[in-house]
Formats: sequence, structure tokens, C-alpha cells
Amino acid sequence: MPQEENTTVVRDGQNDDRYDAQRIESKWFERWQQDSSLYAAEPHSTRQKYYVLEMLPYPSGALHMGHVRNYAIGDALARYMWMNGYNVLHPMGWDSFGLPAENAAIQNNTPPREWTLRNIAAMKAQMKRLGFAYDWSREVTTCMPGYYKWNQWFFIKLFEKGLAYRKKSRVNWCPKCATVLANEQVVNGCCWRHEDTLVEQRELEQWFLRITQYAEELLRDLDRLPGWPEKVRTMQRNWIGRSEGTLVDFKLDGANDATIATISVFTTRVDTIYGATSLQLAPQHPLVTRLTKNNDLLRAEVERLIAEQRKAREVGDIGEIEKHGVNTGRYAINPYNGEKVPIWVANYILMDYGTGAIMSVPAHDERDYEFAKKYKLEIRLVILPQNTDPEETAVEPKLPFTTMQGTLVNSGRFSGMDCEAAIKAMSEYAEKNGFGKATVTYRLKDWGISRQRYWGTPIPMLYCEKDGIVAVPEKDLPVILPENVDITLTGGSPLGRLPEFVNATCPKCGGPARRETDTMDTFVDSSWYFYRYTDADNDQAPFDGEKASYWFGDRGIDQYIGGVEHAILHLIYSRFWTKFMRDMGLIKNDEPAERLFTQGMIIKGGAKMSKSLGNVVSPDEMVEHYGADATRMYTLFATSPDRELDWQDEGVEGIERFLSRVYRFAVRNTRPEDPAWSAPVPENLNPSARMVQRKLHQTIKRVSDDFQGRWHFNTCIAAIMELVNGLYAVTSASSVGADGSPAQSVPVPLLREVQRTIALLLAPFAPYLAHELWEMLGEQASMLRAPWPKYDAALAREDEVEIPVQINGKLRSRIVVPADAPENDVRARAQADEKIGAMIAGKQIVKVIVVPGKLVNVVLR
Ligand SMILES: [Zn+2]
Ligand SMILES: [Zn+2]
Repeated sequence: MPQEENTTVVRDGQNDDRYDAQRIESKWFERWQQDSSLYAAEPHSTRQKYYVLEMLPYPSGALHMGHVRNYAIGDALARYMWMNGYNVLHPMGWDSFGLPAENAAIQNNTPPREWTLRNIAAMKAQMKRLGFAYDWSREVTTCMPGYYKWNQWFFIKLFEKGLAYRKKSRVNWCPKCATVLANEQVVNGCCWRHEDTLVEQRELEQWFLRITQYAEELLRDLDRLPGWPEKVRTMQRNWIGRSEGTLVDFKLDGANDATIATISVFTTRVDTIYGATSLQLAPQHPLVTRLTKNNDLLRAEVERLIAEQRKAREVGDIGEIEKHGVNTGRYAINPYNGEKVPIWVANYILMDYGTGAIMSVPAHDERDYEFAKKYKLEIRLVILPQNTDPEETAVEPKLPFTTMQGTLVNSGRFSGMDCEAAIKAMSEYAEKNGFGKATVTYRLKDWGISRQRYWGTPIPMLYCEKDGIVAVPEKDLPVILPENVDITLTGGSPLGRLPEFVNATCPKCGGPARRETDTMDTFVDSSWYFYRYTDADNDQAPFDGEKASYWFGDRGIDQYIGGVEHAILHLIYSRFWTKFMRDMGLIKNDEPAERLFTQGMIIKGGAKMSKSLGNVVSPDEMVEHYGADATRMYTLFATSPDRELDWQDEGVEGIERFLSRVYRFAVRNTRPEDPAWSAPVPENLNPSARMVQRKLHQTIKRVSDDFQGRWHFNTCIAAIMELVNGLYAVTSASSVGADGSPAQSVPVPLLREVQRTIALLLAPFAPYLAHELWEMLGEQASMLRAPWPKYDAALAREDEVEIPVQINGKLRSRIVVPADAPENDVRARAQADEKIGAMIAGKQIVKVIVVPGKLVNVVLR
């Protein structure tokens, strides 16, 4: 039941100028709790929209400091935009499917749903206590049927468009997770969650999303995202890994089995193919598997290569592997010249790259050269450096000769062509003769989304003996994830053990059908969640296109903020999903986010915070000790938000001290009842008051510029600190009465203006104290919507003074400098003066006397 607001707010502790963060924060916390529409975005507004979003967290149970930093950045921006008159959308949600819930369920005997919802409640309470301004009416929780229903709906749309398909494939299998991992979830050959567990290979029927269909557009549009960090765009470019080249089919010599007769090779340098002196296959290549079947010796050697490869992945850099290989004793036929070349298996060839087979051209490739030298393979020159002088005979180049500035030799009908022309001609020749073609390959693979786990979105498909694969009809969505499932048993999907889930009816023939028991990769959930925020309660569609259009416009989310660890996975999948939804006609934007900001990590004592190191700083403890304002402000102040932050408790203490100073000043210098309090600031100010006024406008400029520019909140908070220091310096020079009467040298109206502005400037960083100050200053209007202060360039300008410059006591010139220019600057300016410069040239300066604001005297010998 809502509490009756019948108590008037008494500024208790009028004479107590001690800053008590807990008292101030709990007071405002209670008030903010009363108003559920406080941070609500307006559905229709004449004001300009601004969508600021922080990546939604996984509900692990407690926020960590990295979260606090991420959200403090977004919150500061949201508040700043509100104060600048925008209609702001600033939502939050929960990426709540996934493995940890299952692990916790097994460990604590708590059902995943219960564990997850409890964690969400706890973390939501933390977020509220920290004062983050979220529109909770739009909260999205991905494990709820109201949300995952639309994952299933999208899946069926993808299936209908041929973009979701099933195929048998070799998959990465983590024995600890007992599940399939996407290539992206394999880090240095190990599971991304279990850094010490090597990933195995298994053959399974899997569901894939055809993200490769969008590879070209995903790559091309990176150039249209100038608001994304270059680092992230580079990582995506490399991940997509486009390369142009030629596919060439070599025939296995003496093959009596048609299924293994062809070895497809991908090469970017088909112009060198007459120099191919061997083929190199990945140890996992299907042909190798066939060749080793009845050859124990070869099998043992191949096993060794696989072990070496695994070891190299373990260490981290497969590119640095010491190259080993073994000759299979078999030959392949080069389709261009009919030549037989030996087939080798090598540990540096990867099955998941290209076709898992390469042609080795030692004369024109670094890696092949190194390998050929080691195993004494033939090195045959087929490209000569291009001659500038046709009269001269070509010089043999130093090997390997790898550039494209060359002419083909020893290459049959293609001899004499330059490399570029030869690539084109030879690709066409291959196509005409049916043994190859020009092609573009991508490192990007289709997205394997099948999980043999419980806690995820059930894939809405059925298997009928008569009709094959059949999608669940839309009207039957959602396929509800059953509860009370025993997930403690290992091996296979827990859903497969539930007959009431598995046994279904085929919607086509009415006969019995078997339900798909795989669930979706949780990256599906986070691929489109930010559209749901625009229409979170819709039960007819994932969201209303018009509503999404208003918030996304043509360019997407105005500002997206999150960790750089999402540079490839989440940020490629969600770009793909956006393009798919656009092609469905659901939205108009091509990209999900116009600007992306990736904040730096928080470390302590030089290391990543981790339980095992015992260097984890708990946000709750910090809030309890120093208050939410000091905690979040410190995460913005310690360094610029894009850099790594080395946590220091003393730093938070420092912020708390600064906030105390601001508060104490307000207690002593706030007089809303004084008639002069709201009078205009007088024109002619005494020098100290003018200094304060100037600093005030300079500070407004610095803070505003930083929000518009590089987000160096650390320097703009430092500017506010300087302003407060200046204020103290001026007011303590005059006598402040024991009764707290206002300082003498700063007129009351200016005192009000400065404090009012400080409160406004602090509002994005320390909202609790800012609101308290706002009230103390007698302000009635909502601070959240109070206009951001504007700076006056004239008032911000430094006052200038003219200073006489003497040489040996005689007036020789005059210079103009800022009134408060430091001594060194004045000295330098005097010596740089044209007249003075000419007179002191070549003379020895004994000393330069500077009387600040008055005079400079240069003493010459
Ligand atoms: Zn694992
Ligand atoms: Zn059927």
C-alpha cells in the first residue's frame, strides 16, 4: 500500500553541517520509490528523442563494480539529456537464460527459475539504491514466456526464409558444460566459460542461422558506423574475414572411391599454382580420416599433429606453432597441368578455415617456403619481378617472392601474364573446365544456436515421420519451457527425458510427432532485446514497428554502452538480427546503434577482480561506507571511462570528502528566505566575486563540452572541484559569521547562482546530493527536468591587464596578459615582446623580476 506523504520535509540538522550520505540518500530513495513514472519515457512527444542504453546484465546475483561503472556512464548521460530537454529512453532488463542458473540449480538444489528471479530482485534493488534512473515499466526479462515466445516466432520466420536450417556438423563440445559451443565461444581451444577445459569435436545434428548470407553487408556497413570505436570495427572486420580467391579441385590420384576423389583447395594466389609442389591438409580433413583408416603408422603420426595443434591452441597462438607435417604417400593431380603432387598433412592447417586444404607454393609464400625448406620439398619459381626495362633480362628474386608485382613464367598458357590478369584468367579457365571458380570466402561461419541444455528458449520445431521437419504453428506459441525438470543428470538435453514435452502432434497430418529438445543459444535473446524496450508488454507482436521506429529512427540507438568483450559476439549477432528484421519490414534502420562506447575494465592491485585473488570490491560495501553518490562518482572520476581503472578505496573516500565540502558550504551559505537570494547578480563585481563568476562559466563550458565530446568525466569532475575550492578560498578570506551568515565578498545573488549551478552540474554524477542541494536552495521544480546551465562566453573570458615591462628599471614596453596568469607565463610573454626581445638580444639576463598584475623588470648585465 502506498504510504501517505503527510510529513513536510524538515531540514533537520540545520546547524549540523556534517554530510551524512546515508541520511540524504535514504530520504531521496524513499521519495523516488513513490513515483514510479519518474524516469518514464514519453510514448509521444514533441521533444527530440534520445535512446541511451547500457548492455543488460546476466542476473548472477550481485552487481560487480564493472556494472556500476557501465551504468554510471549511461546514467550520467541520460540525466544530462533529460536536463537538455530530450525525451529520454533509458531502460534496463535481464539476460536471464543460460548456464550459470543450471549450475547453481545443481549445486544448491534450487530450480533455475527461482534462482534467477531471486537474483533479479536482488540486483534490481542494488540498481535502485545506486540511484540509476531506469524506466522500469519497460523492464525486459528474457527467461519469461512473454519474451521468449518472440524468440520462437523469429526462429520460425528465419526458418521460413531458409535462414534457419539443420545440418550434421562437427561441433565444439565442452565436456564440462556438456553442450555445444559456437566457434566464438572457443577461446584458444578452450571453453569460454571453462578456461581450463579443452574443447572436443563431435558430430551432431544442429540448428544454424545463416548469418553468412549477410556477411557482405555486415562487413560493408562497418564503414557506416563512425560512432563506433575503431577497435571494435577492426575486430568485426577480422572476424568476418573476407578474402577473394579461387576454389580449385585437385583429383586424388588412383582414387577408387568417388566420394573422396576430390580435394578442394582455396587460394588467393591461383597465379602461382604451377609452382605448387605439394598439397597440405588439416589433420582433421575427411580425406585424412579415410587415408589413416587402414594405416596405423600414418594414423599415429596424424594423432601427433592433432595433439600439437591442441597444445598450440592451449598456449594461445596457433599462428606461432612450430610447423610439422607428414607425407601420406598419396598424390593429387594439379588440374592445370596434370602434374602429380604429394599430399601432406600439416599441423598448421586448420579445418575451420577455408576448406582445410591448401596448395603449397614454397617459392611464393612465407609459410610454404619455411615448410618446404624443413622437409626438402621442391621449390619452383613461377613468378618473376616485373621488368621496368624490357631489354633487360629478369633477375631471379630472393625467395620467397611474395608480391603481386610480377610476371608468370613456367606456367603454360598463362606465362607472360602479370599476376593480377593471370588470377582473373586462371579463375575463368577453371570455371570453364569445371574444376573450380573465383570465389569469396569468409572466416565468419553460420551461427550454430542449438544447445543441449535446459535453461533456454525451446526451439519451436517438430519432427514427423511423414512430414519431416515441421514448425510449431504461430498460434501454439510459446512452446513453454517445462518446470520441475531434473537437470542433475548429465548427458544430452534434460528436455529429452520428459515424454510429456517430447511427444506432440504433427500440425500437418495430426499424427504423432517428436518435439525438438534443443534450446537456443542465449545470444539469440540479446540480439533484439533493445527493440522490445520500445513496446515491452506487446503480446501480439515482438514490438510495434511504429513505436520502434520512433526510438530507433534511421540510425538506431543513440548511444549504446557496454564492455569491449562484446565486440564480436553480441554486436555481430544483433547487427545481423537488425538487418533480418529490416528485410522482414519490421523496422527501417539498418544498424542497431549509431554510437557505441566501450568502457574500460576495473582492476585492483594490477589484476582483474576475482574471487580467487580476493580483490573483489563489493558495490554494496562501498555504498554502505561512502554512499551511492561517492561510489558511482568515483568510477567516473578515477580515470577517463574508456581506460582501465585501478580501484583505490582512498579514491572513493576522496570523493566523499569533496561531496562533504559541497554540502557543508551549502549548509553555511544557503539563505532562501533572504530577500536578496533571488535578486539578479550585480553587474560590477569585486575581483574575488568576479573570479568565482568566471570560474563558474568556465566550469559549465568544460562539463558541457565533455558530455558532447570525449566523455572525460574525470576532468570535468575535477573542474567542479576546482570551482568549489575557489568558492571556499574567496569566502573563507572574509569572515563567515558563527551563525552561518553569508560570506561578505560574494554577493548573495551570485552565491545562489553558483550553488544552484554546482547542484545542476553534479546532478548527472551524484544525483542524491544534487537533489538535496536543490531543495536546500529553495528550488521547487523537478531537478531531473531542470534546464542544464548555459555558459556565457563573455563571463568565462579571463580578465586581462596591461603590465609595464622595464629593462634595468626603465619603462621599455607594455604587455597584455590574463589577470591571473602564472608568473612563468608573464615572464615568458615579456621576453617574447617584440621591443623587449630586440633590446635583450645577445645580452646576458641576470634576472627577471615579476610583480604579479603590476610589472616586469628585466635586469641585464
Ligand atoms: Zn564449458
Ligand atoms: Zn505429419
